[in-house]
Amino acid sequence: MAAAIELPRRLASTGRALALHRFPEPGRDHYRSGVRDLARAVAEPTLLGRGLRPWDRGHDARLAARLMAQDEGGGFRLPADVPRGPVAAALGRTLAELREEAVPPERLEAVAAAAVGSPEDGARLSTLARLYRRFEEERAGRVADPATVLEAAVPALEDADWLAGTEVLIVEDLELHARERAFLAALARRVPVRRLARVRPPSLEPSSFAPWAEAHGIPEVSEEKTILAPLTPKAAPPALTRLRTALFEPSGGAEVRDGSVELVSAPGEAAESRAIARRLLRAAAEGVPFEEMGVILARADRYAPLFTDLFGRLGIPHQLHPSLPLRFGRCARSLLLLFRCRGLARTAVMEFLTFAPVPFEKMLPDQAWPSRWDALSRDARIVSGLDRWIVGLRAHAEAEREGAERPGTPERRERRLRRARDAESLLEVVQTLSAELDALSGVAPWMEWSERLRGVCDRWIRPPVRPRPDGTEEENREREAVLRVVDELASLEAIDAEVPWGQVEEVIEARFERKRLPLEPATGGAVHIGALDAMAGLPFRVVALPGLVEGGYPGVIRPDPFLLDPEREATSSPIVPPRGPRRRTGPAQLALFADKAPPVPPVAPAGEPARLPSLFFVAAASALAGEPLTAARLERWVSDDEPRSADDAIDAGERDRLRVREGGKAAADTIAAGSLFFRQSRFAVQGRWKNRLSPWDGLLAELPAEVRKRLDPVSAEWPASASRLAVFSACGFQYLLKNVLGLEPALEPEERRRLEPLEKGDVFHRVAERFLRERRERGELPVVYTDDLEMAEEALDHLVAGSPPRFTVLWERARAQVRDLLLSWLAREAAAAERSTPAHFEVSFGLGLAPSGGEPHRPEPLQIDLGDGRALKVAGKIDRIDRRGDGRLVLRDYKTGRAPRDEGGIFKGGKQLQVPFYILAAASLFPDTTVAEAFLDYVDGGRLVSVDPDWVRSPGFRDLLRGLVEAIGQGIFVQEPSACPWCDYTQVCGPRALLEARLRYKRADPLVQRVLKLRDLG
Ligand code: SF4
Repeated sequence: MAAAIELPRRLASTGRALALHRFPEPGRDHYRSGVRDLARAVAEPTLLGRGLRPWDRGHDARLAARLMAQDEGGGFRLPADVPRGPVAAALGRTLAELREEAVPPERLEAVAAAAVGSPEDGARLSTLARLYRRFEEERAGRVADPATVLEAAVPALEDADWLAGTEVLIVEDLELHARERAFLAALARRVPVRRLARVRPPSLEPSSFAPWAEAHGIPEVSEEKTILAPLTPKAAPPALTRLRTALFEPSGGAEVRDGSVELVSAPGEAAESRAIARRLLRAAAEGVPFEEMGVILARADRYAPLFTDLFGRLGIPHQLHPSLPLRFGRCARSLLLLFRCRGLARTAVMEFLTFAPVPFEKMLPDQAWPSRWDALSRDARIVSGLDRWIVGLRAHAEAEREGAERPGTPERRERRLRRARDAESLLEVVQTLSAELDALSGVAPWMEWSERLRGVCDRWIRPPVRPRPDGTEEENREREAVLRVVDELASLEAIDAEVPWGQVEEVIEARFERKRLPLEPATGGAVHIGALDAMAGLPFRVVALPGLVEGGYPGVIRPDPFLLDPEREATSSPIVPPRGPRRRTGPAQLALFADKAPPVPPVAPAGEPARLPSLFFVAAASALAGEPLTAARLERWVSDDEPRSADDAIDAGERDRLRVREGGKAAADTIAAGSLFFRQSRFAVQGRWKNRLSPWDGLLAELPAEVRKRLDPVSAEWPASASRLAVFSACGFQYLLKNVLGLEPALEPEERRRLEPLEKGDVFHRVAERFLRERRERGELPVVYTDDLEMAEEALDHLVAGSPPRFTVLWERARAQVRDLLLSWLAREAAAAERSTPAHFEVSFGLGLAPSGGEPHRPEPLQIDLGDGRALKVAGKIDRIDRRGDGRLVLRDYKTGRAPRDEGGIFKGGKQLQVPFYILAAASLFPDTTVAEAFLDYVDGGRLVSVDPDWVRSPGFRDLLRGLVEAIGQGIFVQEPSACPWCDYTQVCGPRALLEARLRYKRADPLVQRVLKLRDLG
């Protein structure tokens, strides 16, 4: 408990010299009852040598699981789909509680025999009684569990000479099991035991610890008469006194408002923690030391991470009691992530490799670069499975090595070789990981699992070291805690001979949740944050209780599914009188010590329904008001969390918002002057909602001349390509992201279910070209129909060489679609063979090198006069040129996918500029021949969409081209929301509806108008 650590420290800080033997010695990784620790110290000499096995709560669940599985009566009647693990955990708790309450098995059997409920109730109780008897047999006299320790401690008190002259002081009301009460009563007979006087509401008195203690020789003593006298708090202010004495009592008396208790409402847990941080900082400014402030968490699992994160960011020193679950630590998380890698899903593997402190230097000869592996594995289209990793990474490495051999700069060669080495390194790591996961499967004894996991930790989790202030390093204790969990698995051997891996994983996860991160000692004063139990007994000057909402605190009470309350009452132990109903008095008791206690109920996080304040919260307000409060009247007592002034803000963001709210534009200007980030964000918001195009939505008007030169397709170093200009026509902003900024979409590879449209087009292009080219070389043209598609099969196999499809049925269907496409294309080619004969393929212009196969080509780019004294250089490749019988040319550009319905408008806005460029290129490549026809060949539907060669030479085409080029050169990149559904950059731009709304504002801008008008050209 926090009190065991903090009270002696505070006492020492008052100048009292202390020789301290502290009970309880805080557990290494969790908080324990002081009574049990004292009992263990007393009983240890008598228990040593009895050969008892260690025992913890995890053992209860395992034993319960085994007993359920082995029960001769068939166990509880559970539906088949109910997971057994959680049921066993709940049963383990029930059985352990019965044992700690010293209930003999025959008593439970008698309760089961006398069951008067339904037959199901009788069967449940009989099963429980059977399991409990077995549970007792397995444990009694064999293990050093709490019941054994407490039982042994009672007689051992007589021989505990070291207790002579001792005085025991209980600083907080206790909630004890029967065996603990028996030990405490015996202790009170052996040495003086006293308890600190507490004021509590009269209605709580009968069920509190006090009557039992009074009856067993544990009198009350005021703090001034104990060793804690120097810590005695001053008299509490009236409001706090009212809470101490009247909480949950019938309301009465005049209202008390003295500022010592504050009821605060906040919209959500994060806002609650900020409200509390603000009040703690205010108190600190008034001189309250941090160590005299407490945050009591009724739901520690939910709030502890929030507070540690916020306090860490704000630099508020704090100490958690107990610390966060072990699973929050890097080593524990790494181990759990490693387990998630089963199946080798790419995302899971990459998360593990980039997060875990893996000692790669022991695995790889070269330095490892996990940061590069993510993109690499994505490029290799790896989804999951070792086979895919092997094939994909090998193919990737091979392709990179081949690429490195091609002509190019030394830097390019080195880059490709480096990528190949990266792929090989990653493959080695993944293969090792796969072997490791294989070893973590099957069935084995606990001892063996423990040893195997030890090995896994040694190989995959580097002993983390932390630098000390003096420059040396110390080992981080979190890894030790993880290894302790792994080692402790061996002790489960006493329960199960062998278990499958799945159960081992469940046990580890449960223990990482239950065990705590090693508590780092606070170097100075720190705010204490902790769970109710852990903080009991520690006085504070300022205390906060977040989470007082309906269902939050008090939480939902769930009955024990195995033993209902009346049945439990019937089993009460005869060892000591039955105690009153269990209750939690933590917050009320702790509030007694506080100068201020602001319970804070969250109102409603954004998007969630409003939550009601809890009974505790309403009771506190009613006690202060002196009357029962309705919801409407409660509001008078609740304040919202608002910074009082900029100085009251807890961080820069909050301070800036406050300044802007109070000071308007002038304040915003001042903030912007001092913060680049704020300034830019403000400009962005303002610019995007202006009625003119701005730099924040695609206008790059003010660029240095050098950059502008590179942007302008006319003056750029490289010729423009038709497909690039087509991107601009679809969406100018996409052109900016893709072609100017070079932003690459990072798409997560998926299991292949079909051929992507681009892949389908690529396969078709390659097969069609090769088919026609080979026939041309052999003099076998014009085309004659054939159903020999061997080269199509080859192309498809090549396509998936690095990523073999898993869904073979779906893949076969995709293959069949490509075959059908090729067969129908061949049929059309054969039917039209008389009109023209294929002559040239992949005829390039402006690409410098000659294409393979000795096709005609033009090394220099095409120069198109824009009519303003400038010329646009264009490069490209004509898919195919046919010759008619009269020698004239027919040009075509293959398209896969459906042809657009509106063929009249297909060239509007320049969306398909390839064919017009081809017409011009062909005219320069074959000056003595005219182009008779040019079209887009939509091979899926067998539809041809023609372009009039005369239009390409008309002023209309030139105007369109000039408009496009000028818009790009002048940096006008307008967003086009209608193109969003097919765009990979939606994450950059945001929702389409928002873009449309902003575009409506800007439509009247002449620059936007200029781009929109281009669509009507052509
Ligand atoms: S998401 Fe829409 S607006 Fe943004 S680049 Fe893509 S198409 Fe253009």
